[in-house]
Amino acid sequence: MSEHSWSSTPLNYAAFAIPAFFIFVGLEYFIATKQGRKYLFKFDSSIANFSIGVAERLLNLFLTASFYGVFYYVYENFAIWALPNTWWMWGILILSTDLVWYWYHRLGHEVNLFWGAHIVHHQSEEFNYSVSARITTLQAIVRNVFWALLPLAGFHPSMVIATLIIHGAYSFFTHTQIVGKLGWLEHIFITPSHHRVHHASNEKYLDKNYGDLFVFWDKIFGTFQTEKEEEHGATVYGLTHPIKSHSFIWQHFHYYLEMLYAIRKTHGLRAKFKIIFGNPEVLDQNIRPKLERIYLASRQQVRGTLAYKQYVTAQFIFIILLTFVFSLFFSHLTVIDKFFGVLFTIVTLINCGALLEQRTWMYYLEHFRLLVIFTYISLLFEQPEWLVLSGLFSLFLLSPFSSTKQWYLTLLYGKR
Ligand SMILES: [Zn+2]
Ligand SMILES: [Zn+2]
Repeated sequence: MSEHSWSSTPLNYAAFAIPAFFIFVGLEYFIATKQGRKYLFKFDSSIANFSIGVAERLLNLFLTASFYGVFYYVYENFAIWALPNTWWMWGILILSTDLVWYWYHRLGHEVNLFWGAHIVHHQSEEFNYSVSARITTLQAIVRNVFWALLPLAGFHPSMVIATLIIHGAYSFFTHTQIVGKLGWLEHIFITPSHHRVHHASNEKYLDKNYGDLFVFWDKIFGTFQTEKEEEHGATVYGLTHPIKSHSFIWQHFHYYLEMLYAIRKTHGLRAKFKIIFGNPEVLDQNIRPKLERIYLASRQQVRGTLAYKQYVTAQFIFIILLTFVFSLFFSHLTVIDKFFGVLFTIVTLINCGALLEQRTWMYYLEHFRLLVIFTYISLLFEQPEWLVLSGLFSLFLLSPFSSTKQWYLTLLYGKR
């Protein structure tokens, strides 16, 4: 690629959403600490939240263009008419976007297939800005199917895309406990107070406040609930049956696994169909504990060492920086850069999740990660001997002659 074409390829400035996100999280943490409410943040839970967000940011880089492509395709081929680009049409578009969101979100809670994706957003038992990062790529795909209704209704895709960026940024600010009630704004907008209700698992707060920007959809469709003044700790956040794991993989897929299990156990197409498109209430509540016993059984939680915390933090800072650079220079990267960048990041996120879970198999994942790094270096510099050397090094460490595994696990998890 010539020097000229490299410099003329634009940078992806959307990448700056990443540092902006962390500035706000940092600010919230600072204020919470000042207020003596440091308990609003928990290390493991925040890392788990960020991990899900990083994966979504990364995988969305590959998908965003196709989402936008679909909007244009729908608009050019199926739009019922072409709506004009006037100032009042922007107002109608914002209202329409919010209405589509309401139903997308509500169905995300009422239909198993969609709940399997949206449940991840609700797993956090802490409630702070970091929770807004708990969105999966799967959910982004579901959401964009709903958004395609807007170009279908005749809104120009460029208007739709601009509105979605603002609409998406707004919901970040509703995930906090440090902002109290906001007076008259509570009657117009979805505020942090309204969204706290949505994330609470207390009986009276269940299935309420689906709105994103405006509060009146919930009032119109009968799902509105105000936040009551509660004593500290009375509001419980997360799932009604709390998730018992910070595993990156389990958090993403446990619900689909439960559905698969239920589908296998039921007879008849109609019943199977009902599991996919029915309400989460139809799913047998005993399935998750059963699967937890199978997949989470060997967990042996002890207090992690200081090295453990430092190691998770260091990996995480590195992965955030990498995601930022990867996003910013995305269109300059080769297929090999992209492949190894994603592979390395996903392996590291699985690794961090396994660390939080204090799994011992992650020692082998560390070797796999080394293999990924050295394969990339070997390809980049066309020096295959690097890969051979790293392979031999790993083989030695994995052999019975080496006690590295024990040393490594003791260092991170302490004496077991
Ligand atoms: Zn929700
Ligand atoms: Zn939320």
